[in-house]
Amino acid sequence: MKVTVIGLGYVGSVAAAGLSTAGHDVLGVDVDHAKLDMYRNGSLPFYEPGLLKLVDAGVVAGKLRFLHVDEVTESLGDVILIATGTPSSDMGAADLGQVRSAIAWVTAKQPGHGIIVMKSTVPPGTGVRLSETVLQGTRLTYVSNPEFLREGRAVEDWCDPDRIVIGGTDDEAIDVVKTLYEGIDSPQLITDITSAEMMKYASNAFLATRISFINEIAALCDRIGATIDDVTRGMAGDPRIGSGFLGAGVGYGGSCFPKDVRALDWLALTNNHSFELLKSVITVNNRQRLLPLYALRNRLGHLDGVTVGVLGLSFKPQTDDMREAPALDIIRAFVEDGACVKTYDPVVLAAGERVLPSDVRVTQDLDECVEGAQALVLMTEWPEFLEADWERLVELTNPPRIFFDGRNALDPARIKRCGFEYIGVGRGTENSNKPMGHPGMRPSSPA
Ligand code: NAD
Repeated sequence: MKVTVIGLGYVGSVAAAGLSTAGHDVLGVDVDHAKLDMYRNGSLPFYEPGLLKLVDAGVVAGKLRFLHVDEVTESLGDVILIATGTPSSDMGAADLGQVRSAIAWVTAKQPGHGIIVMKSTVPPGTGVRLSETVLQGTRLTYVSNPEFLREGRAVEDWCDPDRIVIGGTDDEAIDVVKTLYEGIDSPQLITDITSAEMMKYASNAFLATRISFINEIAALCDRIGATIDDVTRGMAGDPRIGSGFLGAGVGYGGSCFPKDVRALDWLALTNNHSFELLKSVITVNNRQRLLPLYALRNRLGHLDGVTVGVLGLSFKPQTDDMREAPALDIIRAFVEDGACVKTYDPVVLAAGERVLPSDVRVTQDLDECVEGAQALVLMTEWPEFLEADWERLVELTNPPRIFFDGRNALDPARIKRCGFEYIGVGRGTENSNKPMGHPGMRPSSPA
């Protein structure tokens, strides 16, 4: 089947490559010339394990091509998959500008036939509204098919998803969308458009809620002397709870959870419902990313002239995505407080310099980042940091040698043995993370 994928970011590129290797004839289109040049030249515009191989396989088989939207003269095929971005607007609502412009392009190009498959995360109600407005008078059918892949494991998730959700009103269109996934042995859930859209938001908001919940428990652990690792282990032993998304730390970030939680909160507000639980999830998460600042200021006062090494920039390991990464906020807070900040991320290199204050030193290796630092703050649990020789690296640092482990990723006893003062999140560090005045910093706006 001929499929056009609109938007070749983290989701669209994986979908395009995955569908092409499944035998579909895929045309990937985007508005970004630089991105397209990279795909055409055999590279990727971002880091995603296994994706280059999948793209190559599609291209070599003659099943995957890339064009700028302005270059397309051919038919878009039976299925037009939309994977453009849906960032936050200032109010927290999902900004549907990219989605609307993609749909306008489709309706102008091919109003006579096709199924629009919405992969982008759009607020519940969007699909029905689009069907009743811009798609009226066309012969284009709308199907919601939210994407649940995770960056860093996107290829695996595409090939072996937990579930495939298809929301629509037209049985024939739903059957066509099912054929996209032939050969993938995963449960398929067929529902209406709005419920499909809500599944995506509810899933992300629920996972974010777990993270903020455990961070609240961790805050209490720090105050009363309990250890969050033991507490979560005990909780996870209950199969009704499970172990996922119970890692205490500096909170969630990335291109999905923060914006989707805000968009759901906004959706509730605009539907005359105040979603109090979500508001707390957001508040807790904003606080968590400042914990390293509270901890260092509790020990050192203002950070004027203090050298801090920040380990990790991406919002999680195995991706270079820095959208709403906690590291960006804490670095800005440290700089505002007078610290000299150095940072290192194994994958984000030059891109880090573009988004950080100019006086932050983006180093090229771990040794350089650690050298001369009086405090280290781990923000992303990259394997390189977990496997590092801290017994040797401590020698490069300067007193008081504070190690804030923002992901509870290292063994506190080992780090202490090396000569650091170890501070985790909810690991019994006795009020060290208690909030105190901070320099009026606001969480960063989405990239
Ligand atoms: P992205 O920003 O990485 O990619 C979006 C792409 O769309 C960009 O390459 C951009 O140039 C292109 N684009 C924008 N407007 C266009 C237009 N009019 N025509 C053609 N191309 C256009 O975004 P992403 O991370 O891939 O996310 C896409 C959607 O999928 C979002 O709604 C997101 O919430 C959702 N989603 C993302 C993930 C994830 O892990 N990134 C997971 C599940 C769902």
